[in-house]
Amino acid sequence: MIADKNLKSGLLPITCPVCSKKFLPSDHTTMPFCSDRCQKIDLGRWLDEGYGLPVEGQEDFEGPSDAREEA
Ligand SMILES: [Zn+2]
Repeated sequence: MIADKNLKSGLLPITCPVCSKKFLPSDHTTMPFCSDRCQKIDLGRWLDEGYGLPVEGQEDFEGPSDAREEA
């Protein structure tokens, strides 16, 4: 199993799931991402999906409250 040996020693390039760029895992501490930036982008996407509804609810709550002050 040469491929498996290469993978363990970080000699086999992997593809970044964010920008699809190929890089060597041994050169980066941000696996499976090619850079810290891509890691944050992926995290941001994940949070956006996971917490999208609660944020919308907060905005909805602020709306009527503001309208009441004006009326
Ligand atoms: Zn990337």
